[in-house]
Amino acid sequence: MPDNIVVGGVSVDTRHWIGGERVASDDTFADVSPIDGSVLGEMARGGPAEAVAAVAAAKAAFPAWAATSRAERARILHAIADGVEKRIEELSIVETTDNGALLRSHRRGVIPRVAHNFRFFADWLLKLEHEDFETRGHRNHVSWDPAGPSVLITPWNAPLMLATWKVAPALAAGNTVVLKPAEWSPLTASLLADIAAEAGLPAGVLNVVQGYGSEIGDALTSHPDVRRISFTGSVPTAKRIAESAAGNLTPLSLELGGKSPLLVFADADLDLAVDLAVEQYDNAGQVCLAATRFLVEESVAEEFTRRFVEKAATLTQGDPRDETTDIGPNIHPRQLEKIDAFVQRALAAGARAVIGGHRKDTQYYAPTLLTDVAQDSEIVQEEVFGPVLTLQTFSTEEEAVRLANDTRFGLAATLATGDAERAERVTEQLVAGTVWVNCFFVRDLQAPFGGSRHSGVGREGGTWSFDFYCDVKNTVTAPNGWKNHG
Ligand code: NAD
Repeated sequence: MPDNIVVGGVSVDTRHWIGGERVASDDTFADVSPIDGSVLGEMARGGPAEAVAAVAAAKAAFPAWAATSRAERARILHAIADGVEKRIEELSIVETTDNGALLRSHRRGVIPRVAHNFRFFADWLLKLEHEDFETRGHRNHVSWDPAGPSVLITPWNAPLMLATWKVAPALAAGNTVVLKPAEWSPLTASLLADIAAEAGLPAGVLNVVQGYGSEIGDALTSHPDVRRISFTGSVPTAKRIAESAAGNLTPLSLELGGKSPLLVFADADLDLAVDLAVEQYDNAGQVCLAATRFLVEESVAEEFTRRFVEKAATLTQGDPRDETTDIGPNIHPRQLEKIDAFVQRALAAGARAVIGGHRKDTQYYAPTLLTDVAQDSEIVQEEVFGPVLTLQTFSTEEEAVRLANDTRFGLAATLATGDAERAERVTEQLVAGTVWVNCFFVRDLQAPFGGSRHSGVGREGGTWSFDFYCDVKNTVTAPNGWKNHG
């Protein structure tokens, strides 16, 4: 296996990054581009031995990193951000080639946000403090102690962005990290290891191991030296990880799937509602937060649908490296098969495809909108993770809220309404980690992010991230505590 492959003109190391060194494995797995199904290269395929080595490296590096001053940790995180910013073009082309999301989105939004993740948590670390409490003269002082080696497991739909949501706060908090990127898009994690090393992050503080979750996952998540596990991915994998972590009671943060609603009320600006609706095809529908269930007030449903179809017809689907492309490929032929199976079962059960309803070829799925779907049907209840949306109607606000909440998920909800009081009333009743009112996808990193019900456990962002990655400590000092102590 060659140690390096060249992707979009960028050299990427195919090996793990453990204890500050590149490490090969006896086995490899093929990394395939979703753009055309071509094999980009053979990547080192880790198993239990690599997991154990990476956790050992993280454990060895932990005391020194935890003892590194906040200012120095923040300085290195900013240096990583500088490195990301210098390589935006390279990271963008590699990410697009590896996972098929739009190059223009990577260049202009996603990869700059990666740098921002590091800067944000570096700055937050420096202002992290809590006012002391006083009880009968006793001072209660809150502090955040780094928890220890942390295992971070990430999915393929926004590989570097989602990885750095975890890596940045974990490192800022003083933890050491073992990052396991998804096997369908491992390349930018390898580049991140290079960037971190160049920025002066000490050996063993960030380790990257590659491989199939089924082969390397348990060894990471059941390891007794691991103090935190943060996972973004699917519900079945989360359950498996929770079982594996249970033996050591390792704290978990789980960011999982969704089946989020877009509620369109008759008083909404319909042009805005349609814009928000069409946005749900972003990243070929492979977005956890996507509002895939349109719930539209009966009286405007026909007009909304007409305008949606018109707007969707203007979207171009094709090579994600092309600036004019709006929708790229789906990640893998297996994912495409899964998407199509969902749609064909829905059609067989009586759904009607207003648009789409079929694959285009082996890499692309036609943007689809299905109506005549029952609330308890699979297509309304299960996450498809492709460009497949459903439309149902409601006639009262109560019905809208009932349909919106009638799911086992609770990641997000989006409202289109012109009535501020309605927005407040409805928002209060929705079960969701994030509610967007007349907007979508915007979030300040200081705000909490996470899902309710089967969409996740815990919240990340701002203080919530530090609370997770640290052992939060309260130190209570007696009044005149030093009187008898010389
Ligand atoms: P997945 O669960 O199949 O895989 C995610 C990661 O888990 C991969 O790195 C995989 O190798 C690893 N893994 C698999 N089995 C494992 C095991 N037994 N132990 C440890 N790790 C294991 O998910 P996916 O298909 O890569 O991603 C899509 C899912 O992620 C969707 O459900 C989507 O909604 C969800 N997602 C959620 C968010 C969020 O923030 N809530 C963001 C993006 C994606």
